Amino acid sequence: MTGRSLAYLTDVSVERVKGVGPKLGGKLSDAGIGSVTDLLMHAPRRYIDRSLVTAIADAPVGREVTIVGSVTKTTSRRVRRGLVIVETVVTDGESFLFVTFFNQGWRERQLQPGVEVAVSGKAERFRGRLQMKSPAMDVLSKGEHRKTGRIVPVYPTVAGIASWRLEEMIANALRRARLVETDAGLVEEPIADPLPEDLLDRLDLVDRDAALGGLHAPASPEEAEAARQRLVFDELFRLEVALALRKRRQIDEAEGIAHEIGTGLVEAFLEGLPFEPTGAQRRAIDDVRRDMAVPHPMHRLLQGDVGSGKTVVAMAALLVGVQGGYQGAVMAPTEVLAEQHFLNLEPLAAIHGVRMALLTGSSKDRAEALSGVADGTIDIVVGTHALIQEGVHFHRLGIAVVDEQHRFGVHQRVQLREKAGDLQPDLLIMTATPIPRTLSMTLYGDLDVSVLDEMPAERPEVRTVAVAPGDVERVYDTIREQAALGRLAYVVCPLVEDSDKLEAASATAEHVRLSKEFPDLEVGLLHGQMRPDDKRSVMARFRDREIQVLVCTTVIEVGIDVKDSTVMVIEDADRFGLSQLHQLRGRLSRGVGPNWCFLVADPQTDDGRQRIAAMVDSDDGFRLAEVDLEIRGQGTVFGDRQAGAADLRLADLLRDLDTLVTARREAFALVADDPRLDRHAELAAEIRSLLGDDIAWLFIS
Ligand code: ADP
Ligand code: MG
Repeated sequence: MTGRSLAYLTDVSVERVKGVGPKLGGKLSDAGIGSVTDLLMHAPRRYIDRSLVTAIADAPVGREVTIVGSVTKTTSRRVRRGLVIVETVVTDGESFLFVTFFNQGWRERQLQPGVEVAVSGKAERFRGRLQMKSPAMDVLSKGEHRKTGRIVPVYPTVAGIASWRLEEMIANALRRARLVETDAGLVEEPIADPLPEDLLDRLDLVDRDAALGGLHAPASPEEAEAARQRLVFDELFRLEVALALRKRRQIDEAEGIAHEIGTGLVEAFLEGLPFEPTGAQRRAIDDVRRDMAVPHPMHRLLQGDVGSGKTVVAMAALLVGVQGGYQGAVMAPTEVLAEQHFLNLEPLAAIHGVRMALLTGSSKDRAEALSGVADGTIDIVVGTHALIQEGVHFHRLGIAVVDEQHRFGVHQRVQLREKAGDLQPDLLIMTATPIPRTLSMTLYGDLDVSVLDEMPAERPEVRTVAVAPGDVERVYDTIREQAALGRLAYVVCPLVEDSDKLEAASATAEHVRLSKEFPDLEVGLLHGQMRPDDKRSVMARFRDREIQVLVCTTVIEVGIDVKDSTVMVIEDADRFGLSQLHQLRGRLSRGVGPNWCFLVADPQTDDGRQRIAAMVDSDDGFRLAEVDLEIRGQGTVFGDRQAGAADLRLADLLRDLDTLVTARREAFALVADDPRLDRHAELAAEIRSLLGDDIAWLFIS
């Protein structure tokens, strides 16, 4: 006999919990806590270890301490420019602590006289008074004051509900979840555990009941930690099992194309290149051919930093398809990039009698391209979103390549495949956004991965320099010097969130200004609002060095490859994300050197400063991606692949990397052994109910 399972409790409304009711229940579910499971998974932000609490009189100055007491008085006042200062006095019965908060006006209502609180922070002594500025301050339940020897959980406030009330509700919910009806009446049983016991033993994890108890009411810090370990494992394990099942399904169920790989077209193409492929490119091409030869659809992610030469691998994959009589498609995120791929690849393809077409929203030969794609006279089509629109029919699509995957959603990838009708084309997804190992195991955990970890030889160095806005003169000097040598410069204008129009306007103004700054140079303009024809001709003139300074927006972020560009100026660089900065800088070092990347900024935030510093320090995309994850937190990184990520509440992908590796190994082993989870029904139920609809289709039975 066991108590309830978390799967079961996802269907039980929080309103059923003692002390909640419809009104609070409504508030909670608005804040994302709709079920008892949600409530039980609402983890404390931290714990106050009562054994570490000091008396105010004994508090050492300059060290982190916790003080427990009650509020005697709280006042607030408004000072210059609307700044609100709240001052509150706390007493432990013997001495007083003076606390100040800035711009936390709501504290006045929270800290009414008599409220019992725990205050943690660094104490200072000023004119004989002990004081703290902006400490962590938590309201405790009535009577908490006198309890000793306890570790008090501190919950993130939801919907204005105080931590101690959440604590009570959760205790009630736990009690109820443990009650089971038997012939002998209600008895208490541990909450059900979906994981096999031998797994828990092997990994030294506590059981589910102990974990939930230890999370909310630990008897010691060690118990809280063991609880966290187990629950973090659970989150990561659910996700990895789901990914393992998805991968399994791709292998088992889909009948793919067994491409012919022996006809020599790929070798001929590689020999025709003006350079030797790197070892990494060769390895990736081998991976692709191996995948394409077997009758299951390929799902491969090709990861390679900016400039690592992914296009060659893509072309090889396309040619594997073409040589056996299939068609290939490449989908790029922008017209400029689609066009660039086409211009680079078409001549190489033509040598081997392979026919290519370009298909974008504004292609002139659209009708011709469409009919060629439909009747099979076109072998490879390069395009944008236009490829997945209505009216595009493929004759025999056998291989689809998606470039710069982070710009597309999963849906678009699926739509592209669906263009193949009954065929199951192979899929190669390329990304230059380096993905830290943790993310590639979660976001892309169902894909096979090839990594281009070797740069084509002799890439000129890029010097990255942070420049204060007042010092741009030296930047302009560099542009002039380089222009005299026939080199080119990008000037990237400030990012305007969510408004292409404003961004274009700011670039246009900058273009006017810089045209005056550089009267002897040709200054061009490129932004997203321009007509495709105009964009095309500006890019062509830049490439031909008729334009020496290109004022642009982030339209150049991805993929653009212009040999003679040696200078990039990024204005208000602190407003860009780290991966975006890295992508932008990747436009440099395309042939000649040395190169300069000037980050012009006067960062006002810590994050901004950290990003600039990281860029100056490192040009390693993987390193930068990790820094980015640290700065931004994982929540924002998932983007489109939300499936399952929403379930990560306790797990922290950076800190819990080891657990992730273990969870992945165990999950894949379990699914290999029991591919439909027939022998792990509880686990299947839990994944279905906790990971939601996105993953539910895995279990269609
Ligand atoms: P990315 O991975 O960023 O898409 P590209 O495929 O655009 O990189 O390649 C970047 C540049 O490096 C291109 O100019 C390409 O021709 C060149 N390149 C690719 N592979 C090699 C190689 N093995 N040796 C020398 N240059 C290469
Ligand atoms: Mg590319």
